[in-house]
Amino acid sequence: MGRVLIIGAGGVGTVVAHKVAQNADVFTDIMIASRTKSKCDDIVKAIGNPNIKTAKIDADNVEEMVVLFNEFKPDIVINVALPYQDLTIMEACLQAGVNYLDTANYEPKDVAHFEYSWQWAYHERFKEAGLTAILGCGFDPGVSGIFTAYAAKHYFDEIHYLDIVDCNAGDHHKAFATNFNPEINIREITQNGRYYQDGEWIETKPLEIHQDITYPNIGPKDSYLLFHEELESLVKNYPTIKRARFWMTFGQEYLTHLRVIQNIGMARIDEVEYNGQKIVPLQFLKAVLPNPQDLGENYTGETSIGCRIRGIKDGKETTYYIYNNCSHEAAYKETGMQAVSYTTGVPAMIGAMMFLKGEWNTTGVLNVEEFNPDPFMEQLNKQGLPWHEVHGGDLEL
Ligand code: NDP
Repeated sequence: MGRVLIIGAGGVGTVVAHKVAQNADVFTDIMIASRTKSKCDDIVKAIGNPNIKTAKIDADNVEEMVVLFNEFKPDIVINVALPYQDLTIMEACLQAGVNYLDTANYEPKDVAHFEYSWQWAYHERFKEAGLTAILGCGFDPGVSGIFTAYAAKHYFDEIHYLDIVDCNAGDHHKAFATNFNPEINIREITQNGRYYQDGEWIETKPLEIHQDITYPNIGPKDSYLLFHEELESLVKNYPTIKRARFWMTFGQEYLTHLRVIQNIGMARIDEVEYNGQKIVPLQFLKAVLPNPQDLGENYTGETSIGCRIRGIKDGKETTYYIYNNCSHEAAYKETGMQAVSYTTGVPAMIGAMMFLKGEWNTTGVLNVEEFNPDPFMEQLNKQGLPWHEVHGGDLEL
């Protein structure tokens, strides 16, 4: 049915490659391209399908990508490199006439700043070219937006309160490690928090607001209010929302390490002089921390991510909670990666499948909630991320 090019061979790229290969009726030709070709070759070996092609690519270099795209002629590129590469990959897609999908919004390297404006600015160009760019198609952002769209379509006339709740109750048995790219992860968590209320964004100090939230099959966990990029598109696409927040759990051990890392300057993203060389402390830290790709083997426990929604249906107030729990062990058994990579990579594959099957074919640059959620929800159940619903329960928030 279609040709797919995966850019990035990290934890998420590995899961995307496994899932794409499992759906050979949809993805007829597959290529994995990344900065380090040997990592792409290792993924192909692990999958055991020698028909998957690999290539070395610098995704910061538009010309290099255009040459590769013109050679392989993908129908869609799945960008699971880093957020820094979003704009160069989108530009190359436009030049080569290729559709685009990613799982994280663009961030400039020198400021940790999350907003969609840079990517939304490409809307007219994608539309004029008759191409589709699907933004933020991991779990959160991604499934969090699809869950909201599904709730809006089937259960609410107006959504008023939205809380996205993200719990990782897993244990990787390391003193400190991040579950996805450490540089991106630490930049995100050390930012000021932000949430939306009555038409305004309210800023908080980093991790200032927290409370216990009870997660299914897990129990109560201290959950911290963060800004997360899907809040920006969701309040735009669902203007009846009065308040939208994002919560994530962190253990005390993790937070203590994070505080030390910040206090000693290792979370800095500006260049410092070291032995006559310029280095960025956070990038150096990434080099010495455990690689998220290697965490899977001894990872126990599960993640639980969902949306808790309050709003109006037929004139009455109603509540709805929709979530997925994903086991680290099961994710590792299937793909060799832990559940955080798994819950990101599976939706990225499903988004590309939606495009190739013609279910999601609006042109332009769109966030996931702007497409029909139903066929995507059906695939979540089939592809390893089953979801569950609670109607009329206590949302705690
Ligand atoms: P990793 O760091 O494990 O992998 C990133 C991959 O991109 C690596 O293979 C890396 O190459 C490659 N890469 C980096 N720079 C370039 C470049 N200039 N050219 C070509 N390849 C490059 O990250 P993850 O797999 O953990 O995360 C991937 C993406 O998924 C990130 O954008 C992250 O923000 C996003 N994410 C989204 C989530 C969601 O729910 N929406 C959740 C988790 C992650 P090399 O191997 O040489 O370093």
